[in-house]
Amino acid sequence: MGSAAHRQLSFAAGMTVAALLVCGIFHALGELRTTFQPEIQLQRIAIMFAGLMIPVLTTWWRFKWVGVNCMAVLLLVPLVFFVVSVTKIPVFLWSFFAYAALMLVLCRAEQKSDTQLSMILIDEEKVQDEINNLEIVFKAKGEGISTFFEKYSTYYNLRKLAEELALSLAWTDLAQKTVDRAMDFIPRGDYAKVTLARGDERNLPIIARRRMRPVGHWTAKQGDLFDFWCIKNRKRLIVMDVQEDFRFAFRENEKKENVRSLIVAPLFFEGRVSGTLAIHATRPNVFTHDDLRLLDAIATLASSAIANALLYEKTEQLAIKDSLTGLFVRRYFYERLKEEHRRALISQKTMSLIMCDLDHFKECNDRFGHQGGDLMLIQLAEILSENLKSALLARYGGEEFAILLPETSKAEALKVAEGIRSVVENAPFNIRREKVSMTISAGVANLPDDTLDLESLVHKADQALYKAKREGRNKVCAAAS
Ligand code: GH3
Ligand code: MG
Ligand code: MG
Repeated sequence: MGSAAHRQLSFAAGMTVAALLVCGIFHALGELRTTFQPEIQLQRIAIMFAGLMIPVLTTWWRFKWVGVNCMAVLLLVPLVFFVVSVTKIPVFLWSFFAYAALMLVLCRAEQKSDTQLSMILIDEEKVQDEINNLEIVFKAKGEGISTFFEKYSTYYNLRKLAEELALSLAWTDLAQKTVDRAMDFIPRGDYAKVTLARGDERNLPIIARRRMRPVGHWTAKQGDLFDFWCIKNRKRLIVMDVQEDFRFAFRENEKKENVRSLIVAPLFFEGRVSGTLAIHATRPNVFTHDDLRLLDAIATLASSAIANALLYEKTEQLAIKDSLTGLFVRRYFYERLKEEHRRALISQKTMSLIMCDLDHFKECNDRFGHQGGDLMLIQLAEILSENLKSALLARYGGEEFAILLPETSKAEALKVAEGIRSVVENAPFNIRREKVSMTISAGVANLPDDTLDLESLVHKADQALYKAKREGRNKVCAAAS
């Protein structure tokens, strides 16, 4: 029930009580008029007056002084005049003054309490406003804090990734770590991969991959048209729905791979885009632009780490491989030779060393120039690599090559050397569209047939080579035991 209904009910109740009391008083006064005995009846009248105060006060309580005045007009005026007319005691008139005084006091009290109440109400309103404002601020701050935490955790994870990437110098390892972390960062995707073009830009092999869920046929070995788009345009790519995107002709291949949405970020190496980091999903509209930005940040970190690893590998190769022929350099070859020598001694196995040298190479240089001579050296290195797959090959000096044949007897080594000599003799060397024929001389030494000492083995092979030169070149000689 509402407060207005309460008010009406209590007003009606008050009025009923008042009416009943008035009826009672009137009845009593009617009796008093006939049998008036002041000594007994005055007490009763006083009690009734006191009783009359109940509805008066109730009305005041509910309706303040308006209600009281109504009561006064309704009840007191006729009552007092009646009492005075019956009792002929003018003192009852004083009750008006008593009533007026009471009213004055009550009104004052009421005014005071009203003022206090309205002040309290204003204060309450202010407090409520303040609470509302604080709630808004709190909500905004709460949202701010959660965004901050989200950002913080992203930065933290990126930092962790950077630290992790700094721990390895193997680029395949780094690519796998990148793919794994990318999936942890953006777990909505189904499949992540890293592609890397090494040298040939049309060849874009997938070098690391990770599948989150057993969906789709992720059998591709090469980058797809989205990777090539990313590399060509040198920018990141988001496709909400592969089937709807007008930039790409939807092909059977993608259909088979079950790709519907994807994000791709470019990997930069030495200022060029040579690879991609991509996440695919089998459902459309999976990724947001925030995901794409995050993927780009991961790709940037991965780029520098993988670039460092590639550079490291290149430097390592440079240190052990001859830049012209791609064969091992003398210093590295000698280290490997020492290892093989030790192993052969421990396991009591044989090994052979062939030293070979191009015949009259100086003339070739004089005829075709230094660059022509270089081409000759490159072609000889190719012949050696193709024909001696299990041997350790090195460019030992200018136009001198060393061949280590582990677990090969002297007779077998002589056969190998003879074979190479014959291949070189018959191979047409192409220099500036001219076919030139070349020959080599070779010396063969064996462990343990010729010596057990490593330096002596090299020396004996060298001596055999010079013997072959002395004996007319285009020849293979065995070391003297
Ligand atoms: P031989 O049959 O006695 O070995 O005669 P040769 O002319 O091959 O030997 P020689 O030692 O007289 O000359 C070797 C030449 O090889 C001299 C040098 O200029 C050349 N040479 C050494 N290194 C390189 C190289 O890297 N590139 C080129 N083009 N020439 C080289
Ligand atoms: Mg020579
Ligand atoms: Mg020489």
